[in-house]
Amino acid sequence: MKIRTRFAPSPTGLLHIGNARAALFNYLYARHHGGEFVLRIEDTDRERSTQHAVDVIFDGLKWMGLDWDGEPVFQSTRQARHAEVVQQLLEKGQAYRCYSTPEELAAMREKARAEKRPPRYDGTWRDRDPSEAPEGAPFAIRLKAPQEGETIIHDHVQGDVRVANSEMDDLILLRSDGTPTYLLAVVVDDHDMEITHVMRGDDHLTNTFRQAMIYRAMGWDLPEFAHLPLIHGPDGAKLSKRHGAQSVVDFREAGFLPEALDNYLLRLGWGHGDAEVLSREEQIKLFDFDGIGQSPSRMDYVKLTHLNGIWMRQADDERLTNDVMERLAKHDDVELTETVRKRILTLMPGLKERAKTLIELSDNAAFAGLRLPLSLTPKAEKILDENGRTVLRGISEKLATLEPFTAENIDTALRSYAQEHDLKLGAVAQPLRAAMTGTTTSPGIDLTLLALGKDEVLARIRSVLES
Ligand code: GLU
Repeated sequence: MKIRTRFAPSPTGLLHIGNARAALFNYLYARHHGGEFVLRIEDTDRERSTQHAVDVIFDGLKWMGLDWDGEPVFQSTRQARHAEVVQQLLEKGQAYRCYSTPEELAAMREKARAEKRPPRYDGTWRDRDPSEAPEGAPFAIRLKAPQEGETIIHDHVQGDVRVANSEMDDLILLRSDGTPTYLLAVVVDDHDMEITHVMRGDDHLTNTFRQAMIYRAMGWDLPEFAHLPLIHGPDGAKLSKRHGAQSVVDFREAGFLPEALDNYLLRLGWGHGDAEVLSREEQIKLFDFDGIGQSPSRMDYVKLTHLNGIWMRQADDERLTNDVMERLAKHDDVELTETVRKRILTLMPGLKERAKTLIELSDNAAFAGLRLPLSLTPKAEKILDENGRTVLRGISEKLATLEPFTAENIDTALRSYAQEHDLKLGAVAQPLRAAMTGTTTSPGIDLTLLALGKDEVLARIRSVLES
């Protein structure tokens, strides 16, 4: 049997990280078993589905490196097939037309509430003879659900979960306007798409019981299920805006690398010994159901940020530089020339050691493209007092004649200046750093000077001395 998993988002909002994690698990499971991972856009709710949300899903999955097999299926294009299955259920006597009016249904719910029973359809039309149907009246089609026995789901995460069939009512398959319900569409599509394993949030567990009834009524085999515990906020409450970023786009804008987010989301609901940092190859190799935990996970932004720092240090310098350049495009005071790009690329090994997000990285890189004169932070201003300026004057003479302008030669020049003037190296590096960046932090001073290049270094010193 070829394993086929799917990700089936509704395009009605953003790609929430709970869904992104479900996508990741389905992807990894399929890849681990040499199977296929397919995408279905559940856009049956035409009013709430938007093209923008579809694009967000495509972009988000691509960004996370979760490539799907084949063309995505749009559920809305399959309505005729959904209706056909309902017709078959009618013919098999597994479904019936329900003519209850909205007022009658409301009264049913009211009555149930008054009797302290769960609000369920009372089965009025289940056993009525179709000849009693009111002429020309609209009707919905309901499943004739079993009323005795129980429905059991053998879930890979939750174990055996069961519900008494008497607890469930006859769910609607086709609404009176002829549109299929979500419960029906998912079953028909999963069956037709030959999905073997369904992994989704455990908020879908009650749907699964109802869907199992549709499978059985059709005589179809059920896929295997794994219901994933939800992601909560750090305080244990349902993850919401007040906790911070929640969608893939939010995390991307907040400066996280996709591999760090993937890695974090995987570890959030699944574990393999102490392994924390896992490459995509390792994830595929190790992922299986056994490592999925049963309790809700708590989103830990601090841990994610830490992990992001680790992934940034391993990331390619060119790639990080491109990202930084894009982010700097939003800063009016930064010039985005090719020269600036090269400076940042040279600085990157030093910059990425210190930053934990791409935002921090680009903030720390911004000095490379600032126009002169630089505005100085109060600390930098203090360092550039009379003593600081004396150092700058002396060191600029040394640097002006330095050939070639390499990190090694720069280092030697700074050391010899310090020695000649009986200064600590820091006393030379600090005013230089302040003059180069306008602040008191930067990557190593020799790397900083090297990246800016001799002309720019001398220009920045001059600009301070002249101010
Ligand atoms: N479309 C459903 C959702 O976005 C998921 C359906 C499923 O995974 O079965 O919640």
